[in-house]
Amino acid sequence: MTKFSFALHKTDGAARTGVISTPRGEIRTPAFMPVGTAATVKAMMPESVRATGADILLGNTYHLMLRPTAERIDRLGGLHRFMNWERPILTDSGGFQVMSLSDLRKLTEEGVTFRSHIDGSKHFLSPERSMEIQRLLGSDIVMCFDECPALPADRKRIAESMRLSMRWAQRSRDAFGDRPGHALFGIQQGGLERDLREESAEALKSIGFDGYAIGGLAVGEGQEAMFATLDFAPSQLPEDKPRYLMGVGKPDDIVGAVKRGVDMMDCVLPSRSGRTGQAWTRRGQVNIKNVRHQDDPRPLDADCSCPTCRNYSRAYLHHVYRAKEMISGMLLTWHNLHYFQELMQGMRDAIAAGEFARFEADFHALRAEGDIEPL
Ligand SMILES: [Zn+2]
Repeated sequence: MTKFSFALHKTDGAARTGVISTPRGEIRTPAFMPVGTAATVKAMMPESVRATGADILLGNTYHLMLRPTAERIDRLGGLHRFMNWERPILTDSGGFQVMSLSDLRKLTEEGVTFRSHIDGSKHFLSPERSMEIQRLLGSDIVMCFDECPALPADRKRIAESMRLSMRWAQRSRDAFGDRPGHALFGIQQGGLERDLREESAEALKSIGFDGYAIGGLAVGEGQEAMFATLDFAPSQLPEDKPRYLMGVGKPDDIVGAVKRGVDMMDCVLPSRSGRTGQAWTRRGQVNIKNVRHQDDPRPLDADCSCPTCRNYSRAYLHHVYRAKEMISGMLLTWHNLHYFQELMQGMRDAIAAGEFARFEADFHALRAEGDIEPL
């Protein structure tokens, strides 16, 4: 049986490309993980998600534990079978979404008690319970249960929260146990503070994980502060293990993160934007709602090979959005996910060829030109 492993193939500056091997398939890095919150990437069939080039999906522990529950998914054969996605799945720990979505939270050393945002029912999450839920789901990459303050927060609050997360990281490691073929990732915290990030990295390394996430970013600090933190945070983590930046991001965030040594990312942006009439292209953002598209027979991006761009005009996409047709979200989500995966493939190729700087310059130059002129 294949073990979980990471092979670093090439670096170019701080940027890296490689392959994560799991029993359910390989993950080419840098990797973008579409988010399948409630056991679906909204508006997409799983085979279509795969066709965009995704090697791995992310599932949300918080949502799945509330509905349909981890125990039910386990009885039905696990999350892969349940949602018809046989490739790798990473699940988050639930911690972040408890903080951002639930009501009436009570945080103690033991864990978090909260009420469901769906029906108000009372639940408890701890490192041990989070490990149990992620095991029941059958997740390939399991995340430590952690706590993360929204930024800005004062240094004392960030330090206390980080140290609690490090104690929870040890409890997560102990509860995870020995599960060949499955990986457990630790999560570095410490806000924007270099010394707290270092302390967190050292604590995680002494416990020992299969991969390391950079948590607590993309929570309101802005791109400049995030990049300033990514100038040092990835290099504090082991070079021979995957580094995962959680919840990022926009295409320019992604390129900047890869440049600084990040291997994996996830974000709801391409799928969420697809349902609100927003498309992402090599030339930046396109608002398909805009009346300028209503007579435009051209595709979103003439050079994009996705089914949306090959078969549908801007005028059609504008029409189905305005008419609130379901195909609107389907077509825009497909294009957006395709674009994000093509961006990742472009970066993997550029790093392998030692041409990342040129890739980055071209990426920014085309975006600076903006969308094609209206007809
Ligand atoms: Zn397209």
